[in-house]
Amino acid sequence: MGTPTRHDFTPDAEALRRALQQLIELRQHGESAGAATALPSVLPVDGVGGRAALEQLAPWALDRSARLDAPGFIAHMDPPTPWMTWAAALWAAGTNQNLLHPDAAPVARELEARVVAWLAPWFGMAGGHMVPDSTLGNLTALWAARDVAGVRRIVTSVDAHLSILKAGRILGLSVECLPVDASRALRPEQIDRDLSDAALVLTAGTTAVGAIDCLTVQRRAAWVHIDAAWAGPLRMTRHAGLLDGVETADSVALSAHKWLYQPKESALVFFAQPDRVAQALSFGGSYLAQPNVGLLGSHGACALPLLATLLAWGLHGVRERIESDMAIAQRLADRVQAEPSLELWGPTRTGIVVWRPRQGDPRQVRERLRDAWVSTATINGEIWFRSVAANPLADPDRLVDAVLHAAGQLNATGKGSGA
Ligand SMILES: *Cc1c(COP(=O)(O)O)cnc(C)c1O
Repeated sequence: MGTPTRHDFTPDAEALRRALQQLIELRQHGESAGAATALPSVLPVDGVGGRAALEQLAPWALDRSARLDAPGFIAHMDPPTPWMTWAAALWAAGTNQNLLHPDAAPVARELEARVVAWLAPWFGMAGGHMVPDSTLGNLTALWAARDVAGVRRIVTSVDAHLSILKAGRILGLSVECLPVDASRALRPEQIDRDLSDAALVLTAGTTAVGAIDCLTVQRRAAWVHIDAAWAGPLRMTRHAGLLDGVETADSVALSAHKWLYQPKESALVFFAQPDRVAQALSFGGSYLAQPNVGLLGSHGACALPLLATLLAWGLHGVRERIESDMAIAQRLADRVQAEPSLELWGPTRTGIVVWRPRQGDPRQVRERLRDAWVSTATINGEIWFRSVAANPLADPDRLVDAVLHAAGQLNATGKGSGA
C-alpha cells in the first residue's frame, strides 16, 4: 500500500463520498468519526493508503475543530461556510490551477477577474486582485502607495490592525498612530493635517470594536487606503451608508473569508487606478509568459468558492445574510442591555458587540462557558467580551444564558471560598 502508484492520482470515488459524508454529519449532528488515535511523532516510513489516512485524520480534523456554526458561537470574525464553497474548494484542489501561468490556468484567471469586476464597483474601485488575506491586501496596497505615490510614511489610528504595523516595518515606512474618539473612530479634526507625503489608512470596522473611521475627509493624503477587511461587505447591504466615502480611496482591502462567508484563504485588494498599480508592482521573468503582479507567486483558483457563493445567492442573498447577522448583533446588544448583571460597552455599529458581566473577571467567566464562545478585547486597559456576529446560525439568547450561568457559578464559588 505504501508504494506510490498512479492509483494515488486516480480518485477513489467511494472514499471521497465517505469523506463528504463525514463533513455533512459533522454539520448535522456535531460528530462524524471514531476515537482519535495518536498521530505518529515522526514521518511514517510506510504509508497507510488514502482511505486509512483520512479515517485517522477525521477525528482530529473534524470532531476536534471549533464549531463556527454552533448556536452559541458569536466570537470571532470566522463564519461557517456555505456548502457550495466546499465543492468549489475541492474542485480547486483537484484541478490545481496556477494563476501565475496562463497555461496552467486558462480560465481560472478569467474567473478571478470576473469576481473582481462584480465586487470592485461597490467600493468605487476599478479593479484589483485576490490575495489570501487582508494582511497581504493591506501590504500590497501600501506597497502601491509607496511605489506609485511615493509616500514616505503611514498615518493611521491607534486601533488600526496589526497588519498595518507589519506593512510599515516591511516597507520601511514609519507608522504614526493617531488618537481616536470615545467610540474609537478617527475624527476629521484628527486627520486635518499635512499628509502630502503620507498614506492615510482608515479602518472600516476596527478589529476590536467594529468602529468606522471618518471616511469622508477632505483629500489631503498622497494615498488613502481603506482597511475594510471586516465591515467592507456592509457596502452591499442596507447599511451601505456606514461606508460612505470609501469610493474616494485609492485602495481598499476586504477579507472574503470574514463577512462573505468564504473558506480561508480568500480576500481582495481593490484599486482606483489598477493599471498604474499593476505597472508599479509587476515583475517579469524568463519563465513567465506574463508579468507577475503583486506579492503572490504561485497561487490557486481561490475565486471559485466565492464565485459559487455569489452565483448561488446573488446580491439579494448576500445582503440578506449579512443583514441577518447585523440583526443577531442587535438582539445580543438589546438582551445585554436588558440584563441588570450585564454591561454593554457602547453601541454596536458593524456587527460587533462589546460587553461583559458587571461582576467577576470576564476571563474567568469565559473559561467557564459551556457550548458558548466569546472573544475578548482590551479597551483602555480593561477586558471586555467581544462578540462578532459572523455566524448566521447563532442564537444570542443561548450565549447570554450561558454567560449568566457561568457568572452566577463564579460568584457563588467566590463567596464560598471567601467565607
Ligand atoms: C481581520 C482584519 C485584518 C486582517 O485580515 P486577515 O484576512 O485576517 O489577514 C485587517 N484589518 C482588519 C480591520 C481586520 O479586522
